[in-house]
Amino acid sequence: MLDIAAVRALVRTVPDFPEPGVMFRDITPLVADAQGLRSAVRHLAHRARAGGADAIAGMEARGFIFGAAVAVELGIGFVPIRKPGKIPVATLGIDYALEYGTDRLEIDPTAVTPGQRIAIVDDLIATGGTAIAAAQLMRRAGAAVDQALFVIDLPDLQGAERLRSAGLTVEALME
Ligand code: 5GP
Repeated sequence: MLDIAAVRALVRTVPDFPEPGVMFRDITPLVADAQGLRSAVRHLAHRARAGGADAIAGMEARGFIFGAAVAVELGIGFVPIRKPGKIPVATLGIDYALEYGTDRLEIDPTAVTPGQRIAIVDDLIATGGTAIAAAQLMRRAGAAVDQALFVIDLPDLQGAERLRSAGLTVEALME
């Protein structure tokens, strides 16, 4: 298994994406690397196991890559948190604020068992808005959500602090 420094070296920084001035942290080289992908998943799974998760929830789209793999590694289920309009049955949804405008996340509430301990997994936390909305949504569905795991934290944006204020433990493999 690769150590965190080697996993970190597989994250590519792309300047001015998706708009000028933004430094985008691109996980494509990491997930394309067999050892990198497996190592990142195992590091996350180790933390989810220690947190006592009995299911994983991940956000479309990059949260699906890591979240589903962590769930398989732990032998537990995965709840997809989707962008609007993708789920073919009655949904539970939450609208949340972006820097400009709003966005929405939806789940199939029958995928959650009341009282289930669910850990949120995504590739990256920036402002924390997406992860807070995801945690609120899972809580409304009856889950106990007390852990959020990320490959990357951008600490300057203080998203992890916001999540901790909402009662979650937050861990990231790298900053
Ligand atoms: P937040 O809601 O915390 O501000 O933004 C986090 C969400 O936006 C995550 O779902 C993440 O996938 C995406 N995101 C924002 N910035 C980046 C970035 O630089 N790299 C990657 N890979 N995802 C990002």
